[in-house]
Amino acid sequence: MIFGATGDLAKRKLFPSLYRLYERKRLNKFAVIGVARRQLTNEEFQASVRESVLSSLGNKENLDDFISHFFYQSHDAGDSNSYAALKKLADEIDGHYTLEGNRIFYLAMAPEFFGPIALHLKSDGLTDVKGYKRLVIEKPFGHDLASAKELNKQIRTAFSEDEIYRIDHYLGKEMVRNIEVIRFANAIFEPLWNNRYISNIQITSSETLGVEERGRYYETSGALRDMLQNHMMQMVALLAMEPPIKLTTNEIRSEKVRVFRSLRMVEGEQIKDYFVRGQYDEGAINGKQVPKYRDEPMVDKESNTETYVAGKIMIDNFRWAGVPFYIRTGKRMSTKSTKIVVQFKDIPMNLYYETEKMLNPNLLVIHIQPEEGITLHLNAKKAGGHLDAQEVKLSFANTGVFTMNTPEGYEKLLYDCMRGDATNFTHWDEVAYSWAFVDKISEVWQKTKAAFPNYTSGSMGPKAADELLEKDGFFWWPVTDLDVDICQ
Ligand code: NAP
Repeated sequence: MIFGATGDLAKRKLFPSLYRLYERKRLNKFAVIGVARRQLTNEEFQASVRESVLSSLGNKENLDDFISHFFYQSHDAGDSNSYAALKKLADEIDGHYTLEGNRIFYLAMAPEFFGPIALHLKSDGLTDVKGYKRLVIEKPFGHDLASAKELNKQIRTAFSEDEIYRIDHYLGKEMVRNIEVIRFANAIFEPLWNNRYISNIQITSSETLGVEERGRYYETSGALRDMLQNHMMQMVALLAMEPPIKLTTNEIRSEKVRVFRSLRMVEGEQIKDYFVRGQYDEGAINGKQVPKYRDEPMVDKESNTETYVAGKIMIDNFRWAGVPFYIRTGKRMSTKSTKIVVQFKDIPMNLYYETEKMLNPNLLVIHIQPEEGITLHLNAKKAGGHLDAQEVKLSFANTGVFTMNTPEGYEKLLYDCMRGDATNFTHWDEVAYSWAFVDKISEVWQKTKAAFPNYTSGSMGPKAADELLEKDGFFWWPVTDLDVDICQ
């Protein structure tokens, strides 16, 4: 059951992802009930599913058969009568498709509905099934620790922790999943993966888009809650965790939780030494003039909301003591890119010091999006020269190998959920530790008015974010210089 089936997420991501699973024969016995407020017939709903698949994947075979598995139920999320009608329909469909009582409830709705819907699902009998029942819940999971706890309490009355699948769509991305394999399947990285050999790690997630039509939501969120609390912190955890004993959900999650427990908590006056906030001014992106954040629709003219955040995250454990994890994320930046740069320490003595320039440090770059791949930056002899060293890049690009884009994150996450694999969903403990960390920052930022706007649209963020690294003797590796060469 998809709650919010007429919404943007369902149309853009969920229906095409379900089609891809169907096409790959990963959906055998299935039916989908679309649930939303407006009155639609089954036929009208099926037409919208068809339209969504056509517009994102083009013309496809077996589309008629695929959409025949879709049903629609008009619904008011707050009304018990609606749930009674939904239960009746679900029970009929369950019998017809022999679904063995297995149910997934996907809440693709505004977050204020998450708790009430979960409570209704239980009180109105929809969770009384003889098969499995699973709840998939979209972000945001609360807007601070207190609200996240309250939401968790509500959904836990209807579902146990192992039945709750909290979506972080970054965990569906191919290269985010690859972090673990790169680290734990290569003898050359794991021995170096610590404070003796790594000087710093940089994670950038930049967008060229502004807040678009999401001003109302974004005003209550900002980059800190929208990006850092979830996606950025998840990437930090995957990079920093200890090797799990086994690749099981519980083992991996417990290692990630240990990273969150080791985070250096910063608060009050310390925040300014570790975090920088920004808000975009007007400027030009790809030659097109764009307005400042405060002039976007449904945004306060005096808004104190950050559209950019950069930070230094310290993990105070034996492996990472002294290694800064720098993160930055923002809107209206010069380029759309998500990359991780692992910078290794300089070699003990530079024999090539006499050459014109210093040797480049070794870098391992993990390209998350839009291109997907890995690049290792080494120094090698310049061909023909005497003994000059120059930087060379060993590159691997996913697109070069598979000649097509790797599966959409949502496709993989939906499939994981159907198989009952919660590894790439966020456990409550991760959510809670992450909010506790972020709340300390937002408490300070909410109390003090920032000198916004402080970065031009089309730049890489405020100057203070550069200074954050400069005072430690580092600099942000320019993301465009690091691009992987994609062979077609
Ligand atoms: P949306 O386009 O606003 O859709 C909201 C859906 O909720 C519609 O289907 C709407 O039905 C339904 N709805 C609203 N009030 C209802 C009620 N009282 N009873 C029953 N149904 C009701 O939202 P969205 O963009 O798809 O986002 C859904 C969730 O996904 C949110 O939590 C969002 O934060 C998250 N998310 C979205 C995206 C994205 O790309 N869109 C990305 C990441 C996360 P009617 O249209 O019939 O009123």
